[in-house]
Amino acid sequence: MSVAPPVDVRFDRYYDHDELTERLHALEAAHPELATLRSLGKSFGDRDVWLMEITNRATGPGEHKPGYYLDAQIHAEEHATSAVALYAIHHLLTGYGHDETVTRLVDEQVFYVVPRINPDGAEASLKPPYYLWCGNGRFAPGQDRLGGLKTEDVDGDGYIVSMRVSDPLGEWKKSALDERIMVQREPGEYGGDYYRLYPEGFIEDYDGAHVRIDKPFDGNLNRNFPANWDADEYGAGEAPLSEPEAAAIARFILDHPNIAGMNAYHTHGGIILRPSMTLPDSAMSAKDLGLYTALGSVGTALTGYPTISIYEEFTPDKSKPRRGGLMDWTYEKMGIPSFATEVWDVETEAGVEKTAFYNLHPRTEEAQLKVFEWVQEHLGEHGVRPWKAFDHPQLGPVEVGGMVYIWTYRNPPPALLEKICHANVLFNLEHAAAAPRVRVERVETEALGGALHRVRATVANHGYLPSNLTDVAIGRGVAKTVRVTLDAGDAELVMNPREVDVGHLAGRNERPFPWSPWGPTWTPTTKVVEWLVRAPEGANLRVRVVSERAGRHEREIEVTS
Ligand SMILES: [Zn+2]
Repeated sequence: MSVAPPVDVRFDRYYDHDELTERLHALEAAHPELATLRSLGKSFGDRDVWLMEITNRATGPGEHKPGYYLDAQIHAEEHATSAVALYAIHHLLTGYGHDETVTRLVDEQVFYVVPRINPDGAEASLKPPYYLWCGNGRFAPGQDRLGGLKTEDVDGDGYIVSMRVSDPLGEWKKSALDERIMVQREPGEYGGDYYRLYPEGFIEDYDGAHVRIDKPFDGNLNRNFPANWDADEYGAGEAPLSEPEAAAIARFILDHPNIAGMNAYHTHGGIILRPSMTLPDSAMSAKDLGLYTALGSVGTALTGYPTISIYEEFTPDKSKPRRGGLMDWTYEKMGIPSFATEVWDVETEAGVEKTAFYNLHPRTEEAQLKVFEWVQEHLGEHGVRPWKAFDHPQLGPVEVGGMVYIWTYRNPPPALLEKICHANVLFNLEHAAAAPRVRVERVETEALGGALHRVRATVANHGYLPSNLTDVAIGRGVAKTVRVTLDAGDAELVMNPREVDVGHLAGRNERPFPWSPWGPTWTPTTKVVEWLVRAPEGANLRVRVVSERAGRHEREIEVTS
């Protein structure tokens, strides 16, 4: 091992593309035996979509080991996620040789980490004017709508926030607790001062009456994947994988069938999302639901984030399930146990009780005030802009200000990053460690006379998950079975083919309680393969077990009497 010079990587700040790139190169250079940095492709803005592969190459190439895929920042404004992914890379590389779990995982498995899927969007949203930019580099901020209101920093303060406009038709009013907070007008309420709230921007072709706000077509790369794709989803793109960043990671995942677990990082909410995106739990495989529940509870214990179903608890309108999502594709089409973690929850941090997981509705006045005060204390005017009078060319006198969502709701203050990164990466390691892992337990030979020998190999799955990973993988026909091969050299095979298909090997997760006639029938975690060979004394035999998702292992034996 070379002596690794420490790389200047910090988890109390957000890095732009050049800074991130520099650190990835430095980490690779400091850990050449373990790290391989590669570009999966270029964004519209000609930036690299980086992937760091981490494994001890001395114990075998990555593609021969169970893989764990982790990605971040598919959505432009989710900067905290990139920090989590960078933390994972740093933790694995610097922990190798010191941390027992990390060392075992890096020796026996492989990690694929994409710290920033969407580098153009990230760059646009990291620099002023600060705005909730979601899409990639296909459209420039402000150029993502046909007409109507186009978001822009109208007062030039470096923040695109909200405009409040005095309007007797308005559905908002100033809070009696704090005039800076806006609360909804009651259904039967009249006689007060009311306001309308709009995103900060100028209005094209304004008719003086209705402020039209189109959905932006800046895109949502996480609706661009080929599973239940639907052109009508916000941000779906022109066609599945039409966006270069989505296409780049999809190609990588397809080319790495050894991926046995994945976690996509998002902000915000402080929740771990699990499948299904489109189905109720009752329509999922009970076995798969069981493994999600078991792995999810590990995640909850480590992060404090509840684990919930996207469809059951994160889909406000169940008649419109999300379509074209990455995780839907990796689980529903490839059978990979997949999670998406929404890191960071400013409301929990501010002491607001969690009453719902997905909620576009305004919070109570008291909840808003708690968040407002927390933000004021921790971020000052970088988190909440004071309302300032502005003479708007279309709307007349307005006030511009309010919450800076990107640096409050969507991302934590940098000082809180490291704690978030650490807890989440520990869950990733536990999830990765649940992978199936095949081993040749032992090989025995028995002399039968006349140079005939019986060869008996026992192969086993040492992992928590089965070699097929999930029922969905079997149902979709994408779970390749485990093969055991005898390499007999000069010896002659008399019985059984050289390669024997042993089907799948169960994992420990099949046995969460003692055997019961009421429970499911256990399937084998261990199987025996026999061959008959005609071989001279001292001949070398090699037995190899190969599984697409559970790695490979081999053992040699010398023929003796
Ligand atoms: Zn997201």
